Formats: sequence, C-alpha cells, structure tokens
Amino acid sequence: PLPQIRGDVLFDDIIFEYEPGRQALKNITINVQAGQSIALVGHTGSGKSTIINLLCRFYDPVHGSVKIDGIDIRDVTIESLRSQVGIVLQDTFIFSGSIRDNIRYGRLNATDAEVVEAAKAVHAHDFIMSLPDGYDTQVEERGSILSMGERQLLSFARALLADPRILILDEATASIDTETELKIQEALKSLLQGRTSFMIAHRLSTIRNADDIVVLDHGVIVEQGTHEQL
Ligand code: ATP
Ligand code: MG
Repeated sequence: PLPQIRGDVLFDDIIFEYEPGRQALKNITINVQAGQSIALVGHTGSGKSTIINLLCRFYDPVHGSVKIDGIDIRDVTIESLRSQVGIVLQDTFIFSGSIRDNIRYGRLNATDAEVVEAAKAVHAHDFIMSLPDGYDTQVEERGSILSMGERQLLSFARALLADPRILILDEATASIDTETELKIQEALKSLLQGRTSFMIAHRLSTIRNADDIVVLDHGVIVEQGTHEQL
C-alpha cells in the first residue's frame, strides 16, 4: 500500500493505446512536485482524459510508468490508490438525499461539524443556509433546485472532506455567471491548497492560476510552462 504520501507524480515516458497500433499518448513525460497544480489543455481527442485514466489506473500504459512518490502505481492496491487520488467530475454527481449526505459522501464517517467546516471552506455554507431546510434540504439527482455553480461548490466540499493528496478536476464547461465564477475560483483555491492537482481546465481563470500548463495535441505534449511563459 501507499504510505502517507507527499504527492509527487511522475508520468515517465508513457505510451498508451486503446486499440493496438493507434497511440493515444506518445512518449508523455510529466513531472509534478507535490502541491503543484497542472492544467491539461488541448483539443478534443488530444489525450487529456487518457492521462487522467492512467493516473486512476482505469488503464495501464503500454510503455513507461506512472509513479507517485517514486512508487509505480501498479505496485500498490487499487484501494490505497483511490484513497489518495480524488476526482471531481464535470457532471457533478448529486444523489437524492440531503445536502449534508451529499457532502458527507466524501468521507462517510465525517461529523456534522466537519461537513459544515468543509462547506465553509469552499464558500458553500451561505447558499446552503439560504435553502429552506439548510443542510437537511433534500435534493434530487435531476431537476435539482441547485444551479450548476452550486452543484460544483457541493462537489468541492465533498472532495475537501475526502482530503486526498492528489486531486483530479474535470472542470465543467457549462457557462456560469461572473459572480458564481469568482466564487468557484475562490473555492478552488481552498480545495487545491496543499494538494497535487490535475485539472482538465476549460476556464481561462483556472488555466491562469495553474503552476504548470501542459498543452496536448494528438497524444503529444506540444507546449508546457506557466501562463506567462506560454
Ligand atoms: P475531450 O476534450 O473531447 O474530452 P480528450 O483530450 O480528453 O478529449 P481523450 O479522451 O483522452 O481526449 O482521447 C484521446 C484519443 O483516444 C482520441 O483519439 C480518442 O478517440 C481515443 N479514445 C479515447 N477513449 C477511447 C476508448 N475508450 N476507446 C478507444 N479510443 C479511445
Ligand atoms: Mg476528455
């Protein structure tokens, strides 16, 4: 198993193909220091999700390896990997139940106080308190009373509670108003604090705030650097 990890991540000369003979990733090397945030950008089909798939071990590379703190992730159990690598997906998963339960899904043994603490940290507390029953407000999977932005903040609170060292964020493409956008940026800062993060970024603000930007094209890194450098 992975011991308490720092969160260094190395994609070491990765080649990957979903179908034999068609490389989705070609000699990809990305070296990430613990605590850094990486924005993955590129056209559709460039390989962003594939990089994430390998980090989650949904697939294994054909060549090369993915290492966390120098340990090949093929050498650790899936359970220990999952406990250290958290994902916030684009279509934020909300299930039928209370707001509290939806946040607590991040860590099932969290106390009510910890749920509130996580919500506060990502600036979700105020909107939750403005709902008819606060944290006990029932939400539905679909036709929810929550806006896209609010759903996103809930998913951040959930991820914060889970407290993984490495966080993957597939940013929603849905357009949201400027005020919510600012709130989400603030929340994101709290969430990313002290974690290694990989963001499939769509918003310019997210890309600008990343420590490193990796630009992919047809499975190859065509540019890499900070926003100022690129
Ligand atoms: P998008 O912005 O559309 O999400 P992406 O950068 O995430 O694109 P990937 O999903 O990583 O792109 O796809 C990289 C390449 O691998 C593409 O050519 C895609 O068609 C192919 N691919 C992705 N998933 C599969 C799969 N499950 N089986 C076969 N080929 C796949
Ligand atoms: Mg994708």
